[in-house]
Amino acid sequence: MKEKSKNAQSLRPENAEISKNRIKGDILKQYILLVEPKFPTRTKSKNHKNFLPIGLLKLAAWYKRKKKCKVELARGKTLPKTFKTPSRIEITSLFTYWSEYVWDAVKFYRENFPDPDVTEIRLGGIYASLHYENKEFQDRCKRYNVNPIKGVQEEAERFFPYYELLNNGNSIDYQIVHTSRGCHRNCSFCGTWILEPEFKGRKKIWAKIKPGLKLGLKNLVFYDNNLFYNPHIRDILNELIELKKQRKIGWSESQSGFDGRILTENPDLAILLKKAGFRYPRIAWDWDYDQWPKVEKQIQILRDAGYNSKDIYVFMIYNWDLNFEEMEEKRIKCREWNVQISDCRNRPLNRLHDYYKPLCDQGNGEDYYIHPDWTDAEVKQFRKNVRRQNICVRQNYQYHSKLLEHKKYYSKEEYVAIKSMSIEEAKKYLPDLWIPSNITRPINRNKWSVEKVKKPHEAIPVILTLPPIQI
Ligand code: SF4
Repeated sequence: MKEKSKNAQSLRPENAEISKNRIKGDILKQYILLVEPKFPTRTKSKNHKNFLPIGLLKLAAWYKRKKKCKVELARGKTLPKTFKTPSRIEITSLFTYWSEYVWDAVKFYRENFPDPDVTEIRLGGIYASLHYENKEFQDRCKRYNVNPIKGVQEEAERFFPYYELLNNGNSIDYQIVHTSRGCHRNCSFCGTWILEPEFKGRKKIWAKIKPGLKLGLKNLVFYDNNLFYNPHIRDILNELIELKKQRKIGWSESQSGFDGRILTENPDLAILLKKAGFRYPRIAWDWDYDQWPKVEKQIQILRDAGYNSKDIYVFMIYNWDLNFEEMEEKRIKCREWNVQISDCRNRPLNRLHDYYKPLCDQGNGEDYYIHPDWTDAEVKQFRKNVRRQNICVRQNYQYHSKLLEHKKYYSKEEYVAIKSMSIEEAKKYLPDLWIPSNITRPINRNKWSVEKVKKPHEAIPVILTLPPIQI
């Protein structure tokens, strides 16, 4: 912070010009650097549909088209390439528990552009909005001379995202769409109703997606929090059905779950969803096990509309108010329905870090949030059980074995031989064989350990097919 970087010092003429314009009362916001901090997503997830910096892309469009600014996107800590000194830097934030990556970016850019009169830094996004009123957050903003922004930046909201900025070799074939903002349900673990307190729904979708279709972004990923709550949902789905018939759009997905209560009261929505090309529908089951008949009904509605059960997902929050045993019962119910689970580990909105590591014992509770009714071992065991069960559902398996999952341990013939055995027989060759229909607790509730499974020495009876004898 104190030290001026070489980069900043070598740019005095340009800075002087910006300052001169400022003095004239003409506050130039000419060079805009949009920053996505280096979040811990895998490189191959860079343009993953769950992590696209859509807010920045909308801001880019606003700055470029409305304000005629020069705009650049920085992903991670990189200096601008097409101009030297940004007049404004917009840094986005995501989950509160990724706050460290955000401050790391803030520090980097403030160190490189230390004069706040030359380079304004603004910080927006989910974490910034949720912690806006927090004293510690405000103090940190002051320390780095950063202007925090709360909530959706309305001026940019109506602009079509400037996807061209992503053209870095990782091409995408989908576009992110919002047909509504907000959610009327106030789930205690969710920040949506704090970020977007008012529900606003669009009536139509065509104008919203048309620029993306021209760019070849035929598939649609909806970021609505509660798509079904929009009073115009039928109009929107009918519009999508028409576009699908004309082959103007491909598949659609909703990132959030569909509101099961609205679905139950309006089962025709499932038919419209299917016709509109929505894939992998998700519904939420965050409440007690006793609620299963309601969830079952919602799944049945989706099945009746033509969805395959293994393509249906049930969202479940764990490490939360329902204990391990109850979550296991819910998991087993999903197995009976043959649907997949989207498990979501509860991380309270005030958590600023998360160093969860699936293979290590982290029972001291310092590395990540553990609910008082859960233990580290239970959190990891539940995650492991869900993962294995989802594989069984997807692949139509009766059981799971890591030895079989990693095909390197057995030859093709051995694999086929084991698969044709009864479960009891297969157990002889697969010491880690796991059946999803049983509650599976950690070996020690207070200590997580992962044992490496070894392939037994016993030879597998393989039936070899001999080539036909040549006469
Ligand atoms: S229904 Fe979903 S989006 Fe709405 S408040 Fe609950 S968790 Fe959040």
